[in-house]
Amino acid sequence: MLFFDLHVHTSGSHDGFCTVAQAIRAAKARGMRGIAIADHNSVSALAEIPKFGGEDFLIIPGIEVSSRDGHILGLGISEMIPRGRSAAETTDAIKERGGVAVAPHPFSPARKTGVVLKATFDAVEAFNSHAYFLSNKLAKKFAEQNRIPMTAGSDAHFPDEVGLAYVGVTCEPTLDEVLKAVTRGETVIFGRMLPLPRYIWRSIYKFVRKH
Ligand SMILES: [Zn+2]
Ligand SMILES: [Zn+2]
Repeated sequence: MLFFDLHVHTSGSHDGFCTVAQAIRAAKARGMRGIAIADHNSVSALAEIPKFGGEDFLIIPGIEVSSRDGHILGLGISEMIPRGRSAAETTDAIKERGGVAVAPHPFSPARKTGVVLKATFDAVEAFNSHAYFLSNKLAKKFAEQNRIPMTAGSDAHFPDEVGLAYVGVTCEPTLDEVLKAVTRGETVIFGRMLPLPRYIWRSIYKFVRKH
């Protein structure tokens, strides 16, 4: 089984503090065979993929779009998807470009929680290392009840968070095959929460850096 963290931010995100090289090094150290880079409303880091992606490590291009209804992950696409549209318009745009539309942290109390009900998603993020309280349990239950495939990701914004959550798939480590395994619901979900003190520290750090 091969492991992929399907939700990683780099310095291409306004609140990311992780270069592509650091993300790859950290992911490899945790046994990942690849990661999905999905920055907030940006595809700038994806230009670096040819430099780093290789035989032994798959980088899945992606984006995390701030839709009007909440965050939406598009996996397998390198193009900008406009922010501020409805969830349905955003997932349509992702699918039209051949991407996989995922509802990340759909029940996190720190986020808008209705997005998963407002559009048809290819998959639901059933484990996010930053989604506290019952959020991940609710997400998994929602996916199971509605028979929606599941993903998992660390939602890392710092190198040491990469690989805290990931999917396991049994397929060839190519972009097409991994995304097919996701949309067929052939993923196994693994994950650990970011320790709460660290979560508080990073929230303060991000706030201070932003202001
Ligand atoms: Zn998000
Ligand atoms: Zn994120």
